[in-house]
Amino acid sequence: MYGLLIGPATRRQAIFAGLCALAILLTLALAAPRARDALPAIAPFMPMCALTVFTTSGIAAFLLGARFAATRLPMLGALGGAYAFTAMAVALQLLMFPGVFTRTGLLGAGPHSAAWMWVFWHAGFPALVIVAELVRSRAPDEPPLRAGLDARAWLLIAGPAVLAAALGVFVVHVDLVAPWHAATAAARAQTPSAGMVANTTGLVICALNLVAIAIVLLKGRLRLVLDWWIVVALLASLVDAALNALSIERFTLGWYVARLFSMFAPGVLVCVLVWEVTALYRQLSEEHASLIQSSAHDALTRVYNRNYFDEQFRRVFERAARGAQPLSLVMIDVDHFKLYNDAYGHLHGDACLSAVAEALALTLRPGDFVARYGGEEFALVLPGANAEEACAVAERARAAVARLAMPTPAAAGHVTVSAGCATSGSGGAGGAVTPGDPPHALIAAADAALYTAKRAGRDRVARAGESVV
Ligand code: GH3
Ligand code: MG
Ligand code: MG
Repeated sequence: MYGLLIGPATRRQAIFAGLCALAILLTLALAAPRARDALPAIAPFMPMCALTVFTTSGIAAFLLGARFAATRLPMLGALGGAYAFTAMAVALQLLMFPGVFTRTGLLGAGPHSAAWMWVFWHAGFPALVIVAELVRSRAPDEPPLRAGLDARAWLLIAGPAVLAAALGVFVVHVDLVAPWHAATAAARAQTPSAGMVANTTGLVICALNLVAIAIVLLKGRLRLVLDWWIVVALLASLVDAALNALSIERFTLGWYVARLFSMFAPGVLVCVLVWEVTALYRQLSEEHASLIQSSAHDALTRVYNRNYFDEQFRRVFERAARGAQPLSLVMIDVDHFKLYNDAYGHLHGDACLSAVAEALALTLRPGDFVARYGGEEFALVLPGANAEEACAVAERARAAVARLAMPTPAAAGHVTVSAGCATSGSGGAGGAVTPGDPPHALIAAADAALYTAKRAGRDRVARAGESVV
């Protein structure tokens, strides 16, 4: 069980991702014919996009790295690496871009350095997604001895970022002519070779994205949630490269839309990863709540269990002692229950215990609670109840069980219970429990009263320190 991202995609998830993919292709179809239309120049648009891509890719790399650390699936580490590469490449491209920080760009960039960084960024992402797909079928790695990122995780995630940095050093020192330098000139000259045809680099990047999409489709067959969103991210990356190739000039419609898709490619995965974390958090808190619930409740009768009784009774007892308030305890035991089991079998016996527990719970006042003390014994804890009130509750409980009229082979003809009441503090009717006694003294007193009721003939209530009522 690895979680939602690498779980099977539901029909709804597939439809949603499919609609995103259609919207991307539709945008390409609409934008392509007018890709070279000039739009108003917004100078900060490029740095803003680059910063967004840097931030979202960094977050995607971190989240995928964390998922790799948790699942040890190499594919997730390699995908994290693809995004780490993107983050580093786009950061370097921004720093090198002429006119953003300085007129010529930082880091000693030449006139074509930023353009080459763009090429490596756009070619590197699909290439690294292909690498991730190639390690896809590999079984999870052995978990590291200590939780967190070990050497292998660093290699998968930080390695590609180092590669991007090395490429940055390369483009600064070996100042190649920008791939679309000639294309731009051709476009300006309005020659037939302008645009896509001239920009072979753009074609190569588009082809790389198409190959990556094909490999994801072939290897993953869109089974997992991740498959769908990787395809969507690659489609965005493909449209980004295609529009760039179609509109080499800056501030054209194609150029603007391409930048929007640059942001979309890592953004979509971040959204899915954050959605996954949120969904896992919700699942975890629900499971935690149900664990707390089941750890305090008896599985058969659904009233509180013995653990809860032990813990809560001590607290209630101490609170009552501190506040000099009375606290009553009623111990209840099903009469001749062995006979019932012997006659009807244990399954019916279980059903009988559940019915008794439900009847007991209905007789409680707000603030009281009932717990299954063990076997066919229950305890009613009645904070603030004096001896009279406790006996009244116990009598109501006894009568409620009798009213169920469950047949039994015992002499009474129907299932009955006996009850023993004891009260601590100022509400006690005397004798059995005195102020300062420990909690178990009250339990022992109620237990003793219960056996008084048993000895006196069952189906009745007895009070601690007194004869049967
Ligand atoms: P008494 O009136 O003296 O209490 O007689 P009793 O037969 O009820 O008492 P005894 O202690 O002899 O037997 C208790 C029976 O309760 C025996 C045991 O099998 C049954 N019992 C305890 N827990 C469960 C349970 O969870 N399910 C079922 N079906 N029976 C249970
Ligand atoms: Mg019994
Ligand atoms: Mg018993």
